[in-house]
Amino acid sequence: MRIRAQVAMVMNLDKCIGCHTCSVTCKQTWTNREGTEYVWFNNVETKPGIGYPKHYEDQDRWKGGWKLDTKGRLVLRGGGRAKRLSRIFANPDLPAIDDYYEPATFDKDILVNAPAGLKDTPVKQPYSKLTGEPMSIEWGANWEDSLGGDSGKDDPNFRNMVEKVTFEFEKTFMFHLPRICEHCLNPACVSACPSGAMYKREEDGIVLVDQDRCRGWRMCVSACPYKKVYVNHATGKAEKCTLCFPRIEAGQPTICSETCVGRLRYLGILWYDEEAVLAAASVPEEELLDAQRAVFLDPFDPDVQRAAREAGHPEEWIEAAKASPVWKLISEYRIALPLHPEYRTLPMVWYVPPLSPVLDAAGAAGRDDTNADDIFHTIDDLRIPVAYLASLFTAGDTAAAGGVLMKLAAMRAYMRARTLDGTVAQELLDGIGMTGAQVEAMYRLLAIAKYDERYVIPAAHRGQAAALEELGGCSLDGEGGPGMGGGGRVPVTIASRRNP
Ligand code: SF4
Ligand code: SF4
Repeated sequence: MRIRAQVAMVMNLDKCIGCHTCSVTCKQTWTNREGTEYVWFNNVETKPGIGYPKHYEDQDRWKGGWKLDTKGRLVLRGGGRAKRLSRIFANPDLPAIDDYYEPATFDKDILVNAPAGLKDTPVKQPYSKLTGEPMSIEWGANWEDSLGGDSGKDDPNFRNMVEKVTFEFEKTFMFHLPRICEHCLNPACVSACPSGAMYKREEDGIVLVDQDRCRGWRMCVSACPYKKVYVNHATGKAEKCTLCFPRIEAGQPTICSETCVGRLRYLGILWYDEEAVLAAASVPEEELLDAQRAVFLDPFDPDVQRAAREAGHPEEWIEAAKASPVWKLISEYRIALPLHPEYRTLPMVWYVPPLSPVLDAAGAAGRDDTNADDIFHTIDDLRIPVAYLASLFTAGDTAAAGGVLMKLAAMRAYMRARTLDGTVAQELLDGIGMTGAQVEAMYRLLAIAKYDERYVIPAAHRGQAAALEELGGCSLDGEGGPGMGGGGRVPVTIASRRNP
């Protein structure tokens, strides 16, 4: 066993209101500068929808992530090194700017300086941030917000359901899906990079780009199935979500978590066995979810704690892993699921799927959305929302997706009975195989957890902190703003501070 620590995130989708505060604060922090106008390290998509960039989930089109070859070996979907290098100057699997959107700005002076008494109200003309020419805005990172567009029917997750549904389904449910880089355990972006510029930090698993090594080949953009590496068109180099490593090193949550209006993000440590990653990524599709869960090591297991100590992890990290809300949601309560486990990158941002589509569907079917039996039957009957969620989170396993929804529905009904009637609904607990104490702890974590319960992040190792001090200055300083500094590859923590 080779034990490693990973800083991981869980998002509770039922609580996302699609306000985009996370996107805006992330942009202000990291990509508010020339060359990254179209870049959203954090974006929030409306589902059903085709996302940002368009159709990024369609790996037949973009060839991102991993697949098993005919001999059952794990290979990059985009092909081996020779094939990738043969396409280095003409890569057909790269999204173009129209797949993201053409960034625009507005001529605000016309509003400020328009003479009084005009017959028509002056309007702001948008201008392209790329060409400076006047343009009309026809697409954006969040164009489908609140079903504002009609592209939901083109969502790749409907691929196997088109015969079963008309798009009346759109009227039945929608939800928001916030996305950042997954900081994968088996990152396709790192494997595809010909320059060795993409790397995964040993101490906390954050995936970063060494700006000095990046040669702008863009293989990482094609290889990432989540399309969470971007090219800075001013520098020609790759950039991506840094999981706000300067904040993580100080024991603080990422800026998207800190500012999340819905308080739906959780951050914590997971222990995993690095030697088990390849095997977990190589199992048949129907085993992927269980295999990916099994990579995580129990932080309460004395053998795991001993292995962590022997590997040099400090006590603070061992204690933090025991208090990790991410461990609880993924492995103890088993209600958090990975986004598209079939991409085989082993993503490290997991999601508690939304129960609200089922509740909406229960209401639409004339059932009582406060009654556990009705909700259970709705989950059983309404295969389309469950199949859709399964396409997103369980590689199509509807039983696994439905099982999580049952737990969430049972928790609501149990807490309702407990709070309003003072009764213990034992049959609900029996139905989901959990104890009353577990359900109440799960409810507390999902509904009313305090800041310190949602974010359990140990600060960087003391020795590393000393090295960081020696570096001097602010890690975000540097030519051109955040992430634009550089100066040679140096030990990981220092390199990452200088070259996000
Ligand atoms: S989600 Fe992040 S770590 Fe995973 S492949 Fe994409 S860029 Fe790499
Ligand atoms: S800030 Fe929170 S609630 Fe608002 S869109 Fe982002 S994840 Fe959702």
